[in-house]
Amino acid sequence: MTDFLWETSVLIDAMKARPIGTGLPGGINGISIDSRTVEPGDAFFAIAGDRFDGHDFLTNARKAGAALHIVSERRLPALGRLQAPMLVVDDVLAALGRLAEAARARSKAQIVAVTGSVGKTTTKEALRHGLAANGASVHASAASFNNHWGVPLSLARLPAETRYAVFEIGMNHPGEIRPLVKLVRPHVAIVTLIAAAHLGHFRDLDEIADAKAEIFEGLVTGGTAIVNADDPKSVKLASIARSVGVSKVSTFGEANGADFRLTDFEASADGATMIAEIAGTTVSVDLAMSGRHFAQNTLAVLGAASLMGADVEAVAAELAGWQPVKGRGQRYHLPMPSGGEIQLFDDSYNANPASMRAAIATLAQARLGEDGRRIAVLGDMKELGGHSHDLHAGLADPLREAGVSRLFLVGEEIAPLAQALAEDDMTVSMHASPKEAQESLLTDMRAGDAILVKASRSIGLESVVEALVSRF
Ligand code: ATP
Ligand code: MG
Repeated sequence: MTDFLWETSVLIDAMKARPIGTGLPGGINGISIDSRTVEPGDAFFAIAGDRFDGHDFLTNARKAGAALHIVSERRLPALGRLQAPMLVVDDVLAALGRLAEAARARSKAQIVAVTGSVGKTTTKEALRHGLAANGASVHASAASFNNHWGVPLSLARLPAETRYAVFEIGMNHPGEIRPLVKLVRPHVAIVTLIAAAHLGHFRDLDEIADAKAEIFEGLVTGGTAIVNADDPKSVKLASIARSVGVSKVSTFGEANGADFRLTDFEASADGATMIAEIAGTTVSVDLAMSGRHFAQNTLAVLGAASLMGADVEAVAAELAGWQPVKGRGQRYHLPMPSGGEIQLFDDSYNANPASMRAAIATLAQARLGEDGRRIAVLGDMKELGGHSHDLHAGLADPLREAGVSRLFLVGEEIAPLAQALAEDDMTVSMHASPKEAQESLLTDMRAGDAILVKASRSIGLESVVEALVSRF
């Protein structure tokens, strides 16, 4: 037995690497591809990305305590006098992929992979949290590490002895998920929802469904596909799963007949309580979030847990009070100097039409204080291509239905929404920057209000949330 994540001799074998330099360690404790987050004892993989090349940061990695440096043969001559233990490979990313394969081959973990247009990280983190019930060991991808480097990195970090592993797999284009899921070889593959995200790269939702369904091609023999019964594309997904040889397809949702079914949902002042039927067991979960979409994600989590042999009641208990990932729907109660409070929904991490609608529905449910109003600070939803105009204007109805009375809009692509609401009673203002919207919001808001903040990441609306949270 060794405490190392990987022994160096195993690394050399798995990656077909050539060791050079002095002070080769017996093994490594972790893997990093970013010199700023290197921990002592890590192996630093010098990966070349679009903007940076890890080979330019080897000295920093060394200083931060990296025990081993994985470099490419081609860059070796330029590394000159670097005095560091190194493993030389043909291509660093390809070598990381080979290590990921070795990690998978040695693992006895039950493995779940999560994809979908929204809710991947939320579901992955809920799985990480819930599966740890009864002290079980769980490994999960960090952040949204879901692409051609994030998935192999997350897999290469999988410890030899782990009960459960959870991987997020994403894509912007067809063909991206297939090679990644074939590395992961999950026992369970979840598709959260098919919705308009990155629609600029696709003709329609069917093309998105086709691309997401690639995740079923990597399931182990006898593995299970989990699809969302409330998603009209679930029928297509299930039939693709069967056509690639998956014999077990399970569904989750509110629809009658769903295998993992929501039977009751009640929003409360602090969150919500959901009741679910999971493979013959009735469980109740006290959610810290009031949005119904969190209950949907939780169904997928409980369903996957049951398929992987976990104790579903223990997982449900573990999930009680679990807080969502930063920027994905946390609620703050901010006391106002003059008394009372405002509720702030921080959904600033990212946005597409599906998550926008889910967040607006959450705002609609919020209990207001006396004189309180529903307020939304919304920004552009990016990457919608030719559908951008209509999908932004299409938010008018959900905002009306939610009873939003004050709307602050940031960006340019969202302007059609202001036009669509021109005849309404809603007070709508357009702002060139988050800062401008924030200043306007600060003069307008009052105790009792519920405020939603949400836009695509590049708009940077988290600054509005940070300003409010630090001020009150
Ligand atoms: P990314 O593609 O950026 O990695 P993701 O798929 O990992 O995104 P999350 O980060 O979990 O998704 O959530 C993104 C947004 O979608 C958040 O606003 C979150 O609250 C919302 N969301 C989460 N789950 C759902 C769901 N089931 N339906 C609709 N919206 C959801
Ligand atoms: Mg994510």
